[in-house]
Amino acid sequence: MSICRGASPSPVASTAVWIDLPPNPAPFRRPTIVPVFLPHAGCPHRCVFCNQKTITGQAGRDSSPDLPALVARFLREKPPSPQHVELAFYGGNFLGQPPDHVQFLLAEAQHLVRRGWIGSVRFSTRPDTIDAQRLRWIADSPVDTVELGGQSMDDAVLSAAGRGHSAQDTALAVDRLRQAGLRVGIQTMIGLPGQDARSALVSAVRFADLKPDFVRIYPCLVLAGSPLAAAYRRGAYQPLSLEAAVATCARLWRLFARRNIPVIRMGLQASDELSDSAHVLAGPYHPAFGHLVFSALCRQAIARGLHRLPAVGRTVRITAHPRRLSQVRGLGNTNLTALTERFALAGIRISGDPDVALHRLGVALD
Ligand code: SF4
Repeated sequence: MSICRGASPSPVASTAVWIDLPPNPAPFRRPTIVPVFLPHAGCPHRCVFCNQKTITGQAGRDSSPDLPALVARFLREKPPSPQHVELAFYGGNFLGQPPDHVQFLLAEAQHLVRRGWIGSVRFSTRPDTIDAQRLRWIADSPVDTVELGGQSMDDAVLSAAGRGHSAQDTALAVDRLRQAGLRVGIQTMIGLPGQDARSALVSAVRFADLKPDFVRIYPCLVLAGSPLAAAYRRGAYQPLSLEAAVATCARLWRLFARRNIPVIRMGLQASDELSDSAHVLAGPYHPAFGHLVFSALCRQAIARGLHRLPAVGRTVRITAHPRRLSQVRGLGNTNLTALTERFALAGIRISGDPDVALHRLGVALD
């Protein structure tokens, strides 16, 4: 985060600073995603943190969905703009399924491409399923993106999470997917058993070194029915607090943004199941987790600006792009309250300016 003097949001240049958040690079393409959830399809075992029936809210789904009906319904309810439409198989270990089933699903998807309903396919799978034989299964299919459940690049953490693969498997998988000409996303987790903040950060650096096309960051939750729930109940696992998860995620976001890697999601998609304490026993779940992270990034940036100004006892004006304003305020104006108290301000005024770049914040004495 840099602070530049000179360009001022107010006419008084010496009492104003601009602060830049690292711009989050736009993903190569923003498709309309039609999700198809295949809870635990192809999973060799249950990873300790996982219960896809809760995460996807699709307890009753089988692994052979009627794809044409599903895609038709989705496109009827959410007609895409001229965007590219991508069918996405999530919630399981796609390439861990039997080969005839993988080929059946991809053949169905190919029909949808020929009809012009979708443009391509993506799926999530484990790194240890990326081998030469399985890459041949998908070679002539519409798959163009693979999301790897990397989770961590710390072998001790992977072992404690019951993943059954190593960091080296993830590095090899990324390499093989690239050689096959596929786009690669990496799903990473924070707050895993045995993982401290340093391990999460070192993993993020190692993931960034693999140069994925995008990443997702998920805080570990204690889901009912997961192996971690038993460990939590006997006191052997303590999840991150929401505050710690937001702080760690903000550090990771900055790291990936500086390495020009888009972070396309932080926190699980909000759902009724995840808001229900019968399903989520503990952990840093929040329906607007990504908003909390961006609010924390804005608060830190504004604090950097305020350190450079004689702001005590003064009213401060913060100028930002209109799309950034709710993050500047924080949920329930928490940022404004915290900054006013911390810097003993008389008050904070907020201005939206569509000419301000999305990653810039102006801080000025009013
Ligand atoms: S994390 Fe992935 S591989 Fe592990 S149980 Fe869940 S869906 Fe299966």
